[in-house]
Amino acid sequence: MSASIIDGKALALTLRDTITQEIQTLPRTRGITPGLAAVLVGDDPASAVYVKNKKLACEKAGIYPQEHRLPASTTQENLLRLIVQLNADSRIHGILVQLPLPSHIDTKVILQAVSPEKDVDGFHPVNVGRLVEGDPVFVPCTPKGVIHMIDSTGEAIAGKRAVVIGRSNIVGKPVAMLLLHRHATVTICHSRTKDLPGVAREADIVVAAIGKAHFVTSDMVKKGAMVIDVGINRLADGKLTGDVDFDAVKEEAGWITPVPGGVGPMTIAMLLQNTLESAKRMAKK
Ligand code: NDP
Repeated sequence: MSASIIDGKALALTLRDTITQEIQTLPRTRGITPGLAAVLVGDDPASAVYVKNKKLACEKAGIYPQEHRLPASTTQENLLRLIVQLNADSRIHGILVQLPLPSHIDTKVILQAVSPEKDVDGFHPVNVGRLVEGDPVFVPCTPKGVIHMIDSTGEAIAGKRAVVIGRSNIVGKPVAMLLLHRHATVTICHSRTKDLPGVAREADIVVAAIGKAHFVTSDMVKKGAMVIDVGINRLADGKLTGDVDFDAVKEEAGWITPVPGGVGPMTIAMLLQNTLESAKRMAKK
């Protein structure tokens, strides 16, 4: 039997409706309009599309959007100056710096310059630490979306064997941490993992965040397992595909997320939610 599809697009739409409704009440109830500043350095086409989509989503939800585009030749000092300015701007409750940055800029220095109170991506070391301690303020958007998708199935996470493939700071590690806090038994796989297919086959939940089209094949998935595909890969014909061989794996899995229409839309919904939460926290102060 074919797996049930976890429809990220539909889930994200529902979430975005709820977020939009709440945002509409905020000027009246709290005297604020949430604001998000997106910073894009250089002209990487994929990054430009991501920023455009995030800005559009903000506009639709009633979030005040600011977009800052800097040329690829921008110096680190210039970028830092902009971030200091955004940290101090009371109209802005969330700052997102689109990655990757050009190689002459130290990404760590930039991410650490963003105020932890406005770090809606959850990449600042203070927020990473809070996440590890199990007391997060901002949960990174993609990992937060992954957990939301798992929860939407009604399946419990506690006690399950979870295998996360990929150990990046923005996806793999935070997803693993969130699953651990929800009492899964978690294994993180990476490029040096021995017998990765054997490890993955033990999983009740597989999260694929590798960046390689169709990496997860049906022989790597236990019958009935839940498979969450974070990957976004562009094929030679221009089509987008995930890290999971969807057509084959759906015959083994119990639940599966599609690409496109899976984790991607959830990531944007979570960004809106983090911005809303940030604005509410600041209004309280
Ligand atoms: P990174 O390139 O930072 O990390 C990839 C990870 O995959 C690394 O840990 C790497 O291992 C591991 N890996 C690579 N090749 C292999 C292999 N042959 N066997 C086992 N492990 C391997 O990627 P990201 O985490 O940033 O992104 C992963 C994917 O998710 C990408 O397709 C990206 O586009 C997508 N993405 C999607 C988002 C969304 O909103 N849906 C948001 C963010 C990312 P090692 O550490 O050993 O090198």
